[in-house]
Amino acid sequence: MGSPISGLLADIYVDHIEEQITQLPEYTHVSLWRRYVDDILCFWTGTMQELTKFFEAINNISNLKFTIETEINNSLNYLDLTLTRNAHNIDYNIYRKPTTTDVIIPFNSSHAPQIKTPSFNFMFHRLLNTPLTLENFNQELATIIQIGKNNNYPLNFMLNIFHKTKKRTTLNHIYPHLKTSSRYIAIPYYPHIHNDISKILTTHNMNITARSHPTLSNLLINTKPPQHVHNKAGIYEINCNDCQLSYIGLTTRNLKTRFKEHQKNTPRSAIGSHTLEKKHTISLDNTKLLHHSDQFNKLRILEQYEIDYAKHNNKQLVNDITDCPEQHLYKMLHPFKPHHRT
Ligand SMILES: [Zn+2]
Repeated sequence: MGSPISGLLADIYVDHIEEQITQLPEYTHVSLWRRYVDDILCFWTGTMQELTKFFEAINNISNLKFTIETEINNSLNYLDLTLTRNAHNIDYNIYRKPTTTDVIIPFNSSHAPQIKTPSFNFMFHRLLNTPLTLENFNQELATIIQIGKNNNYPLNFMLNIFHKTKKRTTLNHIYPHLKTSSRYIAIPYYPHIHNDISKILTTHNMNITARSHPTLSNLLINTKPPQHVHNKAGIYEINCNDCQLSYIGLTTRNLKTRFKEHQKNTPRSAIGSHTLEKKHTISLDNTKLLHHSDQFNKLRILEQYEIDYAKHNNKQLVNDITDCPEQHLYKMLHPFKPHHRT
């Protein structure tokens, strides 16, 4: 998981299993089968025994293990809905997991209103688009208002969003073709000028969303574990263990991998050939990372700069020095010493 296509792959895989499920003899007892990613809703017309047999058969199809949940008191939770069977139909209600908290961005937090409204937009949209009974509708509306109150939202703020969502939902039902497409642009949020900028850009058919600034903790605290220098990409210098020669190189992969290639001299490199010819050795401990970056264009310039700098300081390089179009630029820079050496 974690790859952008893992969701799609999972979907294709479950789809493949689903095809085999429909071939099972017990599948004739299924009157409705709906799947959302890995959650399946199934209406069963057979007996409980037949259901157990069907469930076992499903679990024997692949390595994927399904779990089953059957209705209790005619009720079953599916995704964010509670479905309840009545004499003729199904009642819907909004389902919240017992672990759900009612924490949303607090009203007094310094975020643009556009960042605070979406959680209400979502809840009201779901409320208005789910066929709830009047009782369930009122109960859910009260729950949303309570969530808002717990986060210090004024009633008017919430009702305003509710009425706007209601108007939009109604209009979409009546005129579904009216949805206009416009561009969305995210800009950093500065409370005193945000509305003015939004107004101007809106006249150019652009929808403005506010982006939160990096916070102090974002700027000051680095939560990423430090990366070992050997796992970084950039400009490196390998020093021969047995003579004065050095080699300056560039890699956009990690230094350790590139170093091993030099050791084996595959692909061929000046330092690799040198160690083979002279029977000299090189080691990772005697290798320095001069600049860390994985941007090739930046590294290409830095590599040339380092080679030039080393030559200028009479360092013996084993590099195959070829004329580089940028070389005159480094000649101009020679009077200046690079910062990283100080
Ligand atoms: Zn050597």
